[in-house]
Amino acid sequence: MNATQTVRFFSGENIPLEMHKVRVVQKLFLPPVEERLEAIRRAGFNTFLLSTREVYLDMLTDSGTNAMSDAQMGAMMQADDAYAGSQSFARMQKAIEDVLGKRHVLPVHQGRAAENIIAQSYVKPGNVVPMNYHFTTTLAHIQVNGGKIVELLCDGALDITSDNPFKGNMDIAKLRAVIAREGQNVPLIRMEASTNLIGGQPFSLANLRQVRQVASEAGIPLVLDASLIGENAFFIKQREDEFKQASIADILLEMCAQADIVYFSSRKVSSSRGGAICTNRGELFDAMKALVPLYEGFLTYGGMSVREIEAMAVGLRETTDEAVIGQSPSFIRYLVERLQAHRIPVVTPAGGLGCHVDAMGFLPHVPQQQYPAGALAAAFYLISGVRGMERGTVSSIRDENGNDVLADAELLRLAFPRRVFTLSQVNYVEDRLHWLHTRRELVGGLRFVEEPAVLRFFMGRLEATSDWPQRLMTAFRADFGDSL
Ligand SMILES: *Cc1c(COP(=O)(O)O)cnc(C)c1O
Repeated sequence: MNATQTVRFFSGENIPLEMHKVRVVQKLFLPPVEERLEAIRRAGFNTFLLSTREVYLDMLTDSGTNAMSDAQMGAMMQADDAYAGSQSFARMQKAIEDVLGKRHVLPVHQGRAAENIIAQSYVKPGNVVPMNYHFTTTLAHIQVNGGKIVELLCDGALDITSDNPFKGNMDIAKLRAVIAREGQNVPLIRMEASTNLIGGQPFSLANLRQVRQVASEAGIPLVLDASLIGENAFFIKQREDEFKQASIADILLEMCAQADIVYFSSRKVSSSRGGAICTNRGELFDAMKALVPLYEGFLTYGGMSVREIEAMAVGLRETTDEAVIGQSPSFIRYLVERLQAHRIPVVTPAGGLGCHVDAMGFLPHVPQQQYPAGALAAAFYLISGVRGMERGTVSSIRDENGNDVLADAELLRLAFPRRVFTLSQVNYVEDRLHWLHTRRELVGGLRFVEEPAVLRFFMGRLEATSDWPQRLMTAFRADFGDSL
């Protein structure tokens, strides 16, 4: 009864059938390619700087862009406005206890605010925090507090093409070695569900249990970043034998039971806004709680509106529904398989969060110093109106000599916000990427013209190294006639 739910087609085709209907819609616009060329130039070839009015499918991120359910919208209407002791908070606390199994809850305005509070409470100068892999904001908060990170991904986790079902696993021998070397210098161990920056790749419960074992032996708290826990639970059910018959609700509880502290961004996990830190250990809760009124708001709202709190409570309960959390992974897998059939290089196995196109494989003639992932993101927007995100050297930094620190991988990430796109829209993405791949030699590189010193990928501006955008547009017109 709990086996993974699928509907098979008579045709034998592998179609991810939508288990929802669309009742509120937003009109989209697809400006013609000439206007898209103007738009991407105005945006300095940086998709962050496009206006949504210029974008057909917004695949920049899943953060705060998942579709909300009718039940979430309904709950927002009966929110209990109160500075302290709100019933909305009581409902959120109950939802966290039921779904994640943690009794003590600290509300925060989004995921990075949880990271701020955890890092300020536990990370001291010179500390080392072992983790499977970093997330941008996590790393920043640990560094701001004087700490360092060590990344302990299993072997092969960074390979683009792989059949390892759990690339997010931690290398346990390396974890033991770090703890043996650093001793008291390790304040926390951090595991991230559906490891974001390596392509939404999950860890297994067997691996998480081993990390728990090491943490217990060393007496170090284990922190779980649960921002993308739903998709990780879905993959555990699909890929880990022990859990084939388990319910998603039971898998979520078992995952959280391994961790001393669980935190999350509600912009992702519960298709709402806000975030929280939760634990069953009173002394950990007490060590952090004073920072919530200081940075966020009173302990029963933490910087969130009560409507968001209600939406989070309902959204968390919906995370136990396989049809909800399986929606984006199944669409991502569909697109990944189609792109592979066209021999377009993509990160495999298909993960959560988005489809990740390997820009160095796609554009082998563009040197990494000319930002192939940024060039591919700009070129793809130009020929499709679809906005993805650069995850490569533009998102990296420069060293003390002013040279680019080349990224581990150059990826174009096409995010799949939950239950937002239709399958024909996914077919459009496939079709345009396929065309671009046949014309890939037309795409050239980029160089910075305005480069902020920190987090340059958000606001930096670039230009093309030649007239390639113009030539790509001309090729599009020649092949597609008067099509948008
Ligand atoms: C998005 C994200 C965060 C940060 O959450 P925000 O709500 O954007 O501040 C932290 N960890 C992971 C894994 C994330 O995906």
